[in-house]
Amino acid sequence: LRKFDAVVAGGSIAGLAFASEASKRGISVMVAEEHPEVGEPEKCDGLVSLRGLNRYGFAPKRGVVQNRIASGVIYSPRGKPFAVNATALDVVVLDRSEYDKQVAASAISWGAEIVTGARASLVGSSAGRAVVRVGSEEVSAGLYIDATGPSSAPRQGIVQAAKYEVEGDWFRESVVEVFLDAQKYPGFFAWVIPFGSGRAKVGVAGRGIHPGRVLDEFLAGRDHRILRKVVAPIYIGGPVREFVNGVTVKVGESAGQVKPSTAGGIMTSVAAGVIAARWVSDAVQTGRPELLSRYQPDWESRFLKEMRTMLRLRRVFELLTNRDLEGLVAALAGSKLPSKLAGTDFDFHASAFLGALGMAGLLKVGAVIASAEARAVLLAR
Ligand SMILES: Cc1cc2nc3c(=O)[nH]c(=O)nc-3n(C[C@H](O)[C@H](O)[C@H](O)COP(=O)(O)OP(=O)(O)OC[C@H]3O[C@@H](n4cnc5c(N)ncnc54)[C@H](O)[C@@H]3O)c2cc1C
Repeated sequence: LRKFDAVVAGGSIAGLAFASEASKRGISVMVAEEHPEVGEPEKCDGLVSLRGLNRYGFAPKRGVVQNRIASGVIYSPRGKPFAVNATALDVVVLDRSEYDKQVAASAISWGAEIVTGARASLVGSSAGRAVVRVGSEEVSAGLYIDATGPSSAPRQGIVQAAKYEVEGDWFRESVVEVFLDAQKYPGFFAWVIPFGSGRAKVGVAGRGIHPGRVLDEFLAGRDHRILRKVVAPIYIGGPVREFVNGVTVKVGESAGQVKPSTAGGIMTSVAAGVIAARWVSDAVQTGRPELLSRYQPDWESRFLKEMRTMLRLRRVFELLTNRDLEGLVAALAGSKLPSKLAGTDFDFHASAFLGALGMAGLLKVGAVIASAEARAVLLAR
């Protein structure tokens, strides 16, 4: 059997960031991606903060950035807007397929082997090592890195989404739009992300809906030409309990390392790949497997508080009726919140939102919400 320090199942952003960072640190890594080409088929809209990616050393190359976002507008069910200036937030739209290819090239340049068109699975373990089937080959791995995305994330956190890339003239070139409607998109929303030259990534998700049909309805009144259609799951359930179990290390969406508010997972998955790679390579190079247990607390010390706040706000959001949403957007739009949010961190938006509201704002918001349960969760300390 060929031997590697780590074999990664899943050649997307979490697995590739892991492979690049771990190879750079000097351990041997193989990545297996079941699709014939890294980055394809592309499912993700690529909305991300550059600040977050820079922090973990994976800034996108210039050609990978499709658009810069100047503002975000959230619409109530009846169309009342709540706008936030985003120029200071450093938010961009990436060509996600090209970004994955960029990170794959980086991993290869550090010596990682990437095999495409090959599904990986953990066959078993012996003498503290993993036996992994990669396509038709069996290999021996010090560790099995599960970066397989939503297919191994907890099922209760999965919601189906649909997104189309369209041409049209009704959206604004640098404005991300979010549409709330508790009946049409229960537990989530519809979104429009412009990516240049009169094109936008338009999507919907919601609990129990048929996302393709709902997206067709959203687009019915808006002149458009469809360039591409994607139906794919998103994950909003929060991080899993254990990132490391025996010879298996989970990174990215398979570990639930995705924002439960928006299902954004690019930055948190890159971060997970980098942090896991640090501890895996330290454990391998020092011969001290116990160092692996530092990965989870390291990731959690940066993200868990924010993820819990996002989960709490999600619980509130899921209890709101359209009437609540109408009152909420009106209350927020008329407050100082938009200007306070303008200078915050895009990746920590739940804490930023609560911080900017303050207790007085929270009470004001609580007053427009009909559900006593939602109010209690919102105001809980
Ligand atoms: C419609 C949509 C829009 C999104 N928009 C955004 C956005 O704008 N911003 C943002 O931050 N996030 C967005 N996300 C979320 C983001 O795409 C994911 O959180 C992120 O890609 C997770 O990365 P990952 O590497 O953990 O998993 P994935 O990207 O899901 O990759 C898993 C990879 O593993 C491969 N694989 C699975 N099983 C195996 C196996 N056994 N062997 C080999 N290969 C395997 C798959 O083919 C895939 O390539 C969006 C998601 C969707 C569905």
